[in-house]
Amino acid sequence: MCTTPKNQVIVFLVHTSNKETELSLVKRLDEAASKSRPGLACRLGSILRGNDMSAEEKTYLQKVLETPADDPARIPTTAITQALHQEGYQIGVAAVNRHRRRECRCYGMSPKFMED
Ligand SMILES: [Zn+2]
Repeated sequence: MCTTPKNQVIVFLVHTSNKETELSLVKRLDEAASKSRPGLACRLGSILRGNDMSAEEKTYLQKVLETPADDPARIPTTAITQALHQEGYQIGVAAVNRHRRRECRCYGMSPKFMED
């Protein structure tokens, strides 16, 4: 007589826990997919796409980053990073360098190169 409500509770709990596992797996796979998705911005890409910097600054920074290596006017990556630090942007020289060489996730590189 009193086993029926108990069973119902157990069935409910098992069902709930299965559902949570499924949702969690879907979430994990979605996260993995979004991490390896080409075009997702790296640290510098986020700054360039974000709203902290004015459009004028972004255009100029983009121009500076794209100056060819053989151009005498090219600003060293360390100097760019230092300028960004002075403006309050927390970014490492390695991250700026990777973006500059197009080896960051903005250009679809492997997630293992993504750390800032
Ligand atoms: Zn990037």
